[in-house]
Amino acid sequence: MTDVIIVGAGPAGASLAIALGRRGFEVELYDQATFPRDKPCGEGLLPAGVGVLRALELTDAVAGRPLTGVRYHLTGGSVRSGFGTGDGALAPHGLGQKRIHLDATLWAAAARTRGVRATSGARADGLLHERGRVTGVVVDGQPCRARLVVAADGSSSKLRRKLGLEHVARPRRVGIRAHFRRARDMRPLSDIEIFLCRGYELYVTPLPNDEILVAALAHEDAARGDLRGGFERWVAREPLLRHWLEGAIQTSELMGRAPLVSSSRGPEPPGLILLGDAAASVDPVTAGGLSLALLGADVLAQHACALLTGSVLARRRFERARDQAVRVHRWLGAGVLALAGRPRLAELARRGFSAYPGAMQPFVALAGGA
Ligand SMILES: Cc1cc2nc3c(=O)[nH]c(=O)nc-3n(C[C@H](O)[C@H](O)[C@H](O)COP(=O)(O)OP(=O)(O)OC[C@H]3O[C@@H](n4cnc5c(N)ncnc54)[C@H](O)[C@@H]3O)c2cc1C
Repeated sequence: MTDVIIVGAGPAGASLAIALGRRGFEVELYDQATFPRDKPCGEGLLPAGVGVLRALELTDAVAGRPLTGVRYHLTGGSVRSGFGTGDGALAPHGLGQKRIHLDATLWAAAARTRGVRATSGARADGLLHERGRVTGVVVDGQPCRARLVVAADGSSSKLRRKLGLEHVARPRRVGIRAHFRRARDMRPLSDIEIFLCRGYELYVTPLPNDEILVAALAHEDAARGDLRGGFERWVAREPLLRHWLEGAIQTSELMGRAPLVSSSRGPEPPGLILLGDAAASVDPVTAGGLSLALLGADVLAQHACALLTGSVLARRRFERARDQAVRVHRWLGAGVLALAGRPRLAELARRGFSAYPGAMQPFVALAGGA
């Protein structure tokens, strides 16, 4: 019997497979997609996620554009903070990298890791249960057994739904993104730029090769059923964003996701662990999802020996670490969205952060994973 079956080879599942394989475990990794595959995302990886990639010695392969901090544009002005203190190579930094490249790099690294059997184009349809325990999955109609099953199958996790554990946050939020290659003579960007507007947010991530990603996030009803139209209208309303896009060429189709935020409504049964977005997806307005996926995988790998013996204590420790990181982003995200919906409060916050520039840093460092 295999040690661990992982369903889903996004950042959570693929990085877990690499970490477990390198620790000597036997792993089967399944993904319904074939790589490279694209997916809607803001593509900004925070310093905590970069730290996990560094520990896996994958930062060179992932490459990406270094990100130095976050700037919020609100009520006609802006406030900015770096990710933390430190000089040169020691300064914490994020990375902007396209998902099509990031995920393909992680998949390739997982597939060549000793002990990992990676199969793409393979869909998990259900779970195997014995005596109240999950003992495996059904992949393309075939039963596959393991000592531990990890469902890392994303925010609309089929395995979580099969267990009746799906919970979607209300009001529902939606997101859409496109890539643009900017004109060569434009000043390069190095921060994640977030425009907090009434009813929606725009999100810009600098990427390699003069590209940027522009995403729009909104409550479902803000786009009145036309998220693509909303995206174009909202971008056109921001003079600074319009300026950044002067002479730019759109390099990808608009791609969206709904709902943005979901989680598990209860604990998983023994034998199964939910990881990454399948455990809980956070609002992209704090750019935390990728880092949470990578951090969750890192913690799981550290506890793997004890988890495979069925240790309840190890499971509690793992769940506490996984869920606490999610709570930090939920809390920060709720704060940012509260400002987006209340112009007076936003104006006060902007003035406060402008008057005391250091006051924003702890929040950005916390989001970044300090
Ligand atoms: C608009 C938007 C903007 C975002 N911006 C950011 C950002 O800037 N920064 C950030 O950190 N996060 C951002 N996120 C969140 C980020 O995309 C997710 O948190 C991240 O993808 C979670 O990784 P994961 O590995 O858990 O799941 P996923 O990346 O969703 O991977 C799940 C994998 O499971 C596979 N799968 C699904 N079902 C099955 C099945 N039944 N059988 C086999 N395989 C299956 C899928 O093919 C997929 O490869 C954003 C999300 C959206 C929608």
